[in-house]
Amino acid sequence: MKRLCVSACLLGIPCRWKGDAKPCEAVQRLAERAAVRALDPATRRALGESHAESAEVVSHAESAENAEMELVPFCPELAAGLGCPRPPIELVQGEASEPSIVSTASTASTFQPRGSALPIRVLRVDRTGDATDALRAACEAEAEALARAGGVDGFILKSRSPSCGLASPLHDPAGREIGTAPGLWAALARERFPGIPRWTETTFPESFRG
Ligand code: SF4
Repeated sequence: MKRLCVSACLLGIPCRWKGDAKPCEAVQRLAERAAVRALDPATRRALGESHAESAEVVSHAESAENAEMELVPFCPELAAGLGCPRPPIELVQGEASEPSIVSTASTASTFQPRGSALPIRVLRVDRTGDATDALRAACEAEAEALARAGGVDGFILKSRSPSCGLASPLHDPAGREIGTAPGLWAALARERFPGIPRWTETTFPESFRG
């Protein structure tokens, strides 16, 4: 059975920073034909009681019989404990001075996607915190879990997200847009699963579309 890891918001799970979802019809159609792994308990807790129904939609599909595919929903930002709703974050290239969201120490933690000339951080847009360490830890854990489960055959990743996007807006420390770069999860997925395809919600292959 093919296993695809999917940005959870594309399945209709309200895990975005504003507390909404970004349902993608083609991805939702794919989910109807697939076994969809239940969200992890930490993500369910973060979504809270009011969102229990949409979390249920996902767990019902787990019982899909004879499914040819398994979808693994993952929201790096919820898994990182950033909360929902939460302050928006963005990719930033430049000097570090913001305190880490998860530790009291001031941090210069960065990630450097292949092809990027300089290291990048994931900062709150209002510059009150650095989410890089928290996101990296959550993404490392998910990559480990996918590897333990036998690997993954592809990723469907929400475009333009600082966590999931393949080419997301990149900013300087003052917030000016200076180009694009992959989000932290998109970069780490490439590093941990070299050669495994990564698509956006608009570029995943026709063969997967209903
Ligand atoms: S982190 Fe990824 S899965 Fe979570 S809301 Fe943002 S784009 Fe969607």
